[in-house]
Amino acid sequence: MDNLKQKIQYLNRRIEKAALKSGRENTDILLVAVSKTVDSASVQMAYNCGIRNFGENRVQELLKKIDSVPQARWHMIGRLQTNKVKELLGKVSLIHSLDRWKLAEELDRRGKMAGIEVPALLQVNISGEEQKAGVSSAEVKDFLDSAGQFSSLRIQGFMTIAPMTDNVEETRPVFRELFELKQNLSKRRYNNVELKYLSMGMSQDYEVAIEEGANIIRVGSALFAHDA
Ligand SMILES: *Cc1c(COP(=O)(O)O)cnc(C)c1O
Repeated sequence: MDNLKQKIQYLNRRIEKAALKSGRENTDILLVAVSKTVDSASVQMAYNCGIRNFGENRVQELLKKIDSVPQARWHMIGRLQTNKVKELLGKVSLIHSLDRWKLAEELDRRGKMAGIEVPALLQVNISGEEQKAGVSSAEVKDFLDSAGQFSSLRIQGFMTIAPMTDNVEETRPVFRELFELKQNLSKRRYNNVELKYLSMGMSQDYEVAIEEGANIIRVGSALFAHDA
């Protein structure tokens, strides 16, 4: 617990520093603690230390943890199969991993059936790595134009994952490109689209991401790994 508390304090200090560098405050940055490697007891512990938002990348694990710590806000950050949408709907505050048109259709369809809005971020594969999910930056504009037809799905911004690297500076152009894409497309008027969130930055690169305009970061190992 003390150890976790210290990691949270350390993280918050660094978030604040990076936020200041980009002319913002730490309250402008939403920390999503990625709990995929730890159990519900650790989530509860982090909650007791003041963390309110948690992310998981697998539906079954997510549902299990939501049941254990329902007072937290939960985020889906991993690849989502369309046949799992039904189980998830109404239980998460944000889906970060809307990465293809078929999924957008299913989120909207299920949202309509349930009579709820479905907030999601469009995942963009800026780095163009083949194994990575997400639409290419060239496809984003058309995706948003078409998303105007939806009545339940609400696209609220973008998410990206930078390449793994030993030199964190290499992530900077990736984050900058997504920020610029958001700025450019924010000038357009879309139905059911409000580009307010940029979910980018993980344990290795959250400071660079914040400096480049992230307002949501997804941090796992820096909080929960034993050796971090
Ligand atoms: C695991 C994961 C994270 C957190 O990664 P860390 O390097 O442990 O901070 C962030 N985003 C996604 C999509 C993940 O799968």
